[in-house]
Amino acid sequence: MMKKSWKILIIAAAAVVLLAGLFAGFLLLNDYHIEMALNGEKEITLEYGDTFTDEGAKAALVGKWHLKKGKALEVSAEGAVDEKKLGEYTITYSAKVPRRKAEISRVVKIVDTKKPSLKLKGEEKITLTEGQEYKDPGFTAEDNYDGDLSKEVKTEGKVDSKTPGTYKLSYSVKDSSGNSATAAREVVVKKKVSRPAASGGSAGVTDKVTVIPGEKTVYLTFDDGPGPYTAKLLDILKKYNAKATFFVIDKGSYMSLLGRMKNEGHAIGLHTASHNYRKIYSSEEAFFKDIEALQSIVVAQTGSRSTLLRFPGGSSNTVSYFNRGIMSRLVHAVTDKGYRYFDWNVSSGDAGETTSTSQVARNVINGISGKRVSVVLQHDIKGFSVNAVEQILQWGQANGYTFKALDMTSPTAHHGVNN
Ligand SMILES: [Zn+2]
Repeated sequence: MMKKSWKILIIAAAAVVLLAGLFAGFLLLNDYHIEMALNGEKEITLEYGDTFTDEGAKAALVGKWHLKKGKALEVSAEGAVDEKKLGEYTITYSAKVPRRKAEISRVVKIVDTKKPSLKLKGEEKITLTEGQEYKDPGFTAEDNYDGDLSKEVKTEGKVDSKTPGTYKLSYSVKDSSGNSATAAREVVVKKKVSRPAASGGSAGVTDKVTVIPGEKTVYLTFDDGPGPYTAKLLDILKKYNAKATFFVIDKGSYMSLLGRMKNEGHAIGLHTASHNYRKIYSSEEAFFKDIEALQSIVVAQTGSRSTLLRFPGGSSNTVSYFNRGIMSRLVHAVTDKGYRYFDWNVSSGDAGETTSTSQVARNVINGISGKRVSVVLQHDIKGFSVNAVEQILQWGQANGYTFKALDMTSPTAHHGVNN
């Protein structure tokens, strides 16, 4: 009896030890997992326009008893970043081996923290005379993400041009990420001072005074602008500290250059708003209506009226023959109204004979060199003509010439009237 139960006990104990061993072995062999780590940051914030480079992630098998412990595993990624679109993107990296799987993720944010650019057209300070209508020259707003935001600009403030005073206008715009930009403009409405009428008996007061300038004086004049080359021309004139006169027409958004012209010491003259011969020379009324349209733009842009004038085609033009005698009447009418009109005594030829920069420079230099005082005709809407200006200034300054802006006492270089 005793012997048998002893035997059973031994067998049972052996079985327990064996099972425990197997179980422990199983546990040890099964003790492994995948360890993952990101290359680079877990959260990445990129400014719109930056490039996202995915540095990926790594995975390795960890387990003391595993045959392949320490082995680098292949990692696959899911999710993509659209750099062209603001937002939050998640990329999930995963790795697996039989009976084990692991994953890790990264968040990439594409943000726009740049504010839009808000630019005013025209001057930041505009001066009007009481009663003169205020027309805002406008603005442009551009955002790196949203594009053109000009239509989103909000304007605050109003100008009452009937009441003299200083008015402040503020402009603001926000992009879709809430970045905002602002700009401000001051409009001064000046009290109207009644000035003595220039009309009356004689040809007009302004025609009487011509102050003869010093020898070797050159008045460069540019007609039909402003245009795409005018800003560059202003840069050149500035470089040589030379002054000039711009006989402008209504060129829309380019009119915002008038403020710069004035600030930099150049003269602005009127060349009619439309430059349309058929229209402006159809009657005196039509001519002055057109001049007044241009005048109000000049005032809005520069704060003052211009009394310098050049007739489209010059006072000697024959394009106005369809209205016989109109030029003879206009030269008196403009003078009576207080304007001083100018023709020229040196032509660059840029209106027809030539399209070459070197020929324009030659024509002008030849014209100037024979004269004590020159009034030079060029057109700043012609790039090839603008390109000749630097050479003309260099030659002129090297030879003792001074480049000045026209004013109400300058020589007029009148042509004879043909109509
Ligand atoms: Zn012209």
